[in-house]
Amino acid sequence: MTATAEQVLHEVFGFDSFRHSQREIIETVIGGGDCLVLMPTGGGKSLCYQVPALVMDGTAVVISPLIALMQDQVEALQQLGVEAGFLNSTQDHDQRWDTLNRLSEGRLKLLYLSPERLMMPETLNVLAQHPVSLFAIDEAHCVSQWGHDFRPEYRQLDCLPERFPDVPRIALTATADQRVRREIAEQLHLENARRFVSSFDRPNICYRVADARDGKEALWRFLQSEHPDDAGIVYCLSRKDTGKIAEWLSEKGRTALPYHAGMADVERAANQRRFLLEDGVIMVATIAFGMGIDKPDVRFVAHLNLPKNLESYYQETGRAGRDGLPSSAWMAYSLRDVVTLSKFVDDSEASDAHKQVMQQKLSALLGWCELTTCRRRALLAYFDERVEADCGNCDNCLWPPEMIDSTEEARLALSCVYRTGQRYGVGYLIDVLRGKSGDERIARNGHDQLALFGSGSDVDTQNWRDLYRQLLAAGMLTLDEEGYGGLRLDPACRPLLRGETQFSMRRQPKRARRGAAAKKPALELRPGDDALFEALRQWRADLAKSQGVPPYVIFHDATLAALATHRPTEVDELIDISGIGAGKQERYGQEVVDVIREHA
Ligand code: ADP
Ligand code: ZN
Repeated sequence: MTATAEQVLHEVFGFDSFRHSQREIIETVIGGGDCLVLMPTGGGKSLCYQVPALVMDGTAVVISPLIALMQDQVEALQQLGVEAGFLNSTQDHDQRWDTLNRLSEGRLKLLYLSPERLMMPETLNVLAQHPVSLFAIDEAHCVSQWGHDFRPEYRQLDCLPERFPDVPRIALTATADQRVRREIAEQLHLENARRFVSSFDRPNICYRVADARDGKEALWRFLQSEHPDDAGIVYCLSRKDTGKIAEWLSEKGRTALPYHAGMADVERAANQRRFLLEDGVIMVATIAFGMGIDKPDVRFVAHLNLPKNLESYYQETGRAGRDGLPSSAWMAYSLRDVVTLSKFVDDSEASDAHKQVMQQKLSALLGWCELTTCRRRALLAYFDERVEADCGNCDNCLWPPEMIDSTEEARLALSCVYRTGQRYGVGYLIDVLRGKSGDERIARNGHDQLALFGSGSDVDTQNWRDLYRQLLAAGMLTLDEEGYGGLRLDPACRPLLRGETQFSMRRQPKRARRGAAAKKPALELRPGDDALFEALRQWRADLAKSQGVPPYVIFHDATLAALATHRPTEVDELIDISGIGAGKQERYGQEVVDVIREHA
């Protein structure tokens, strides 16, 4: 007798109920229908094809762009007692042969492949002779030229419906971009597939943008006060910074490793492996890092520089908290980042129309950074999702910014841009406003003769800087095309200069600036339970090390927390704990119970 989807969920995965639209998706696939699944990171996409794979006859073929991801998923499935394997270029001939053998003997319920490997004649031949239950196309946005991760090989997947007309296909992605979604449906011939669109909200992620005078120090305060021993990612714009920041964090006693595309392959792979295998590692990386990393317990994603646009920001921060536990998305940025990114766009090879779109996206991001209202609502609205209420879990909701009438200062700041000829950057403008004495360049330009020279000396430099940034974000100023940060007036500033409108500056309340703990710790344990939790973590770490697998494929933190709270002392009570199915109960039940009993 074959198991039902419900039974598989309980017995194999140890979960109580389906999430979002998992049940409907799974039923559609089992019924032979195609699906296009749009679900945020951490939403539970894998289950949407893993459960059907275990219910249906034959082998499910999962197409995935990244080797690390395949290995992780296969390891996790094997831990559950599921017959799964992968074929990729890291294997030697014997290992591949073994997988193909298991496939042809019908011993594999899931087979993970890269698109190139699938398209090889030898693979297609084997699959043609063997019952395939379904094709799952993971990270389906790789088929889109508009996406960030375009993989030309994904385009060849359009031949699947012709070659395997009776096999249902399910394409999955976490991309929230409408254009990319349309392209997925077209390219993969999934126009008639049933579409499942979940909310893209990630309620467990707290969004924060720091008004940082010094990003590095602010990062340190944030890490120490909220994530003193958590694993996380720190994104930097430059490769050089990744090394410097990682070293700096290491000197301060954290385990921090650099990662960028210019590093030697071996070193890069070794750092990634440590991030996955050890607890509490901080990866300091460029955006080369992250795609295909499905480590569930990344507790924070910090940006030390502005990301490229809101799409990238959402994708990068989405790597936090896949396990659903509270996590942080934290960012510090400066006007210099805006100048750098804007210059990247100008210097790129793209067409003028494309550059214009990129600049607009950068402005939208800047506007979001300087927002005074709920960040989550604005973020979701950007992705065409309407939310009725403020979230209560972003900095603006938690510590509403103060609005300070700065009309006079704003006019002065704009006049200074105008009087100096609309070509200087913020540093110079502030020197003029504050009346810097003995400055050669100012003297040479005769700007020390201007009436406004020194008229802003009672406002400190950082305040002027914040003001210029906010005027830029509000569209009153624009960056000139030279790429050195020169500011020009935008016609939008006229009413303000003419005295017809006011300008208010946002200021973060002190508490937010100091990095007050945003919310409850990731796991709420009763006082006495944390010792047991730590003991279970240690047991898991040792076991993971001896098996050479990441700790989370053995048990997630949430499962350990449930064990620490409920303290089952008999093996057959373990099945009630979320995340423990029959396979794990049999494999680890006795050891878990021993750890708990020792602690009683
Ligand atoms: P995605 O691929 O969408 O980013 P995953 O498939 O990795 O997300 O799932 C995210 C996490 O949620 C995983 O740890 C998974 O075990 C867990 N999960 C998924 N579905 C359920 C469910 N129905 N009940 C409990 N946990 C679930
Ligand atoms: Zn909010």
